[in-house]
Amino acid sequence: QPALDIAAIRSQFPILHREVKGKPLVYFDNAATAQKPQVVIDALVNYYSHYNANIHRGIHTLAEEATAGFEATRDAFRHFVNARHREEIIITKGTTESINLVAYTWARQQLQAGDEVIISGMEHHSNIVPWQIICAEKQASLKVIPVDDNGELVLEEYYKLLTPRTKLVSVVHVSNALGTVNPVKDIISAAHNAGAKVFIDGAQSAVHLDIDVQELDCDFFACSVHKLYGPTGVGMLYGKKELLAEMPVFLGGGEMIKEVSFEQTTYADLPYKYEAGTPNIADTVATAAALNYVQEIGKANIRAHEDELLQHATSRLLTIDGLTIIGRAKEKTSLISFVIDGIHPQDVGILLDNRGIAVRTGHHCAQPLMARFKIPGTIRASFAVYNTLEEVDALLAGLQHAVKLLR
Ligand code: PMP
Repeated sequence: QPALDIAAIRSQFPILHREVKGKPLVYFDNAATAQKPQVVIDALVNYYSHYNANIHRGIHTLAEEATAGFEATRDAFRHFVNARHREEIIITKGTTESINLVAYTWARQQLQAGDEVIISGMEHHSNIVPWQIICAEKQASLKVIPVDDNGELVLEEYYKLLTPRTKLVSVVHVSNALGTVNPVKDIISAAHNAGAKVFIDGAQSAVHLDIDVQELDCDFFACSVHKLYGPTGVGMLYGKKELLAEMPVFLGGGEMIKEVSFEQTTYADLPYKYEAGTPNIADTVATAAALNYVQEIGKANIRAHEDELLQHATSRLLTIDGLTIIGRAKEKTSLISFVIDGIHPQDVGILLDNRGIAVRTGHHCAQPLMARFKIPGTIRASFAVYNTLEEVDALLAGLQHAVKLLR
């Protein structure tokens, strides 16, 4: 495999040419959202400049072109996750909406008093709160797979949690707070053996790992396009066709119906049944450009580059006195989360910003996980394909400077 030409890749991202506080931007907040290449920005501008129209109902040329662009993204998603059918791809506004959709339809229909839903101790709030809400409504209970000191799931405990009452297991594929890659194939097959369905939160995995929903055999999979070098406001829910077909509808309105009368309404076929109202057409159209961009570079190449950054960051940062990495899983990608003795993460974040370095500090929407490690939060540097070893060295220098000032 030839190494990626990172300079050429960087030149495709206009924002990477700007300065922050008079210093070249070093963007290490990619797990929150990634920057966008020119091809994605062009696709967005091109849509608004040339074929903006509402989709699916129009018979005029612009409406047909906009519909074709929107539906091309569904095909791109299908290819991206290797779904068997295009009807299995529901376009949402992000991972959060995808999880809520399944909570409010499938789970609300399937859960009964006494049933159990299993999540893990490293979930993002968006894979906790919707299940809490629906479990409370249905008098079902939420069980949590524990996390060990390395930031790995304790699978023996997971296997013990699976019972005939388990209806759903919903776990994160890659932790946004630790970088842990969870063994989702084993988690899925164990759940299926116990008769439960499985939801995989792929918000962090979709950009770093090859996703094959047929091989994983997950029942649902969600991701957000803004973390995939694409626009904000678009996500995907993959669901197995037989499940999506039987689930009750989510939002009611235009687009999701076959026929409406005051007496009775019949619903549209998949996937439109779950896509009420005018969607985010422009960003969805531009999504295809982002998915193609990732696939052209190749996820294996992206991961190899990010692994090199991660290894370099791990060995360099450990030279800082009092620095502890939170999350030392054997299988890990693309981000490093850490604390420094006696120093508040936020103070470090501010000092790094003064040097043009963007990191995230705080609980990363994973408060229960922070409680597990008995910390209020971490400093997180998360990598993308356009980051460089020199930027990691700039982070190290910034941290050394911060430690000197704050101690
Ligand atoms: N799950 C994980 C693991 C995430 O990292 C995120 C985004 N930080 C989400 C879910 C929610 O994604 P979104 O905000 O795009 O809906």
